[in-house]
Amino acid sequence: MQTAEIKSRFLQFFADRGHTIVPSASLVSDDPTVMFTIAGMVPFIPYMTGVVPAPYPRAASVQKCIRTNDIEEVGKTPRHGTFFQMGGNFSFGDYFKREAIEFAFTFLTTAEDEGGLGFDSKDLWVTVYKDDDVARDAWLEISDIPEERIQRLGAETNFWSAGKPGGPAGPDSEIFFDRGPAYGIDGGPATDDDRYVEIWNLVFMQYERGVDLGDGTFELLGDLPQRNIDTGIGLERIAFLKQGVENMYETDQVRPVLDRAAELSGKTYGDDAEDDVRMRVVADHVRSALMLITDGVQPSNEGRGYILRRLLRRAIRNMRLLGVETATFPELFPASMRAMRDAYPEVERDFDRTSRIAYTEEALFLRTLAQGTTIFEEAAASAHEQGAVIIPGDTAFKLHDTFGFPIDLTLEMAEEAGLSVNREKFDELMSEQRARAKADARSRRSALADLSVYSDFRAKGETAFLGYDELRLESQVL
Ligand code: ATP
Ligand code: MG
Ligand code: MG
Ligand code: MG
Repeated sequence: MQTAEIKSRFLQFFADRGHTIVPSASLVSDDPTVMFTIAGMVPFIPYMTGVVPAPYPRAASVQKCIRTNDIEEVGKTPRHGTFFQMGGNFSFGDYFKREAIEFAFTFLTTAEDEGGLGFDSKDLWVTVYKDDDVARDAWLEISDIPEERIQRLGAETNFWSAGKPGGPAGPDSEIFFDRGPAYGIDGGPATDDDRYVEIWNLVFMQYERGVDLGDGTFELLGDLPQRNIDTGIGLERIAFLKQGVENMYETDQVRPVLDRAAELSGKTYGDDAEDDVRMRVVADHVRSALMLITDGVQPSNEGRGYILRRLLRRAIRNMRLLGVETATFPELFPASMRAMRDAYPEVERDFDRTSRIAYTEEALFLRTLAQGTTIFEEAAASAHEQGAVIIPGDTAFKLHDTFGFPIDLTLEMAEEAGLSVNREKFDELMSEQRARAKADARSRRSALADLSVYSDFRAKGETAFLGYDELRLESQVL
């Protein structure tokens, strides 16, 4: 079952049940405090809080998402992409828990020839919030999943909230697919997330949240004026489970890029665990970059553009680790475009522009990558000679400033060499540089006015991401 097929089945199922189908919003969210659309519910937030009356009581979408906080997981777990597609069904004061559970279970277990996904309920596990008897009872009544496969978990995993006092909150229930004993130990989702793959999250928004109580929990102020449903099902996760492959990078929309990366390097996917991770990272990052550039992001040193730049540079570096020192984007981007164009025709329509941006960025980085790598290797050799385990902060800074090495690239290279980086010194040099840039900017204020939102991010040394589980600001150093 192709990924596009999963998408159309999902939308059809919910259209048949009275949901208005809403097209995916852009990856670039309207809200300046959120870098990217990180979940299907983001475009619907105003309807959830009741700030804006919802134009429909129930809706469904398949939303393009970017999650940079998963970047370190990419290629190593089977299930984390920086780009992925999230199916969601939403109720704005309309149906609630019981129906949401029934819809999800029915869609997953209805036979393929009747429009469902054809999962065997024997392979499914469920989690609910520990006090949520209503959800647990609904699962027991609606499905044939036995009590032993319904785990009650705490607030950390099963209580969602929108981060700040006054926002919505509520328990959630997650659905997992058991890949079997070959993938890990028994015991359910609470014990092993490689064997038990999370596929769908159902959030029951019903409370107004209060202040943080400091122990990971928060005060609840009372009921919301309306109860909402927000769900998220990962299309790539369904795709890899339905396509009988090992992970999301081997699915129809990603695999062609992985194969091209393997061909270019002359290596065989499956031969070497480390090389396999590199090929998966390349395939993931190329696709994410293609989708981001298509949605109007351009490489730069700030904000969204910097995230894009990091993705592109990580892809380039991983190709280099696979042994290819020449430009590869002219091969990899067309492969990704062809794999994505049926689902997103704009990637083909726009390809002249998007590919030019990617190829230029690659040419620029290849020019400095070799020099920077030499500088790094010299520093690593001298550290080893002195019996030290640390790359000096000013080397990391020089690599960043002169050679365009994102700090996570330097950290990654250091780790591979068994070294660490003097991060304190690096951060100090970065903030000095920011202070200089700020002073500069003050003298040219008018020209920079429209960029102020990003320079503020930089001044704080962090970027705000609205996390989905908790919708609270997560800090991520650029
Ligand atoms: P995990 O615990 O596996 O990281 P999550 O709890 O962070 O997932 P949610 O925030 O609940 O995920 O998002 C809803 C659904 O979106 C998940 O159940 C999953 O199917 C999918 N999903 C989330 N993150 C990713 C990702 N990085 N790549 C692919 N699919 C994802
Ligand atoms: Mg996650
Ligand atoms: Mg989870
Ligand atoms: Mg989840």
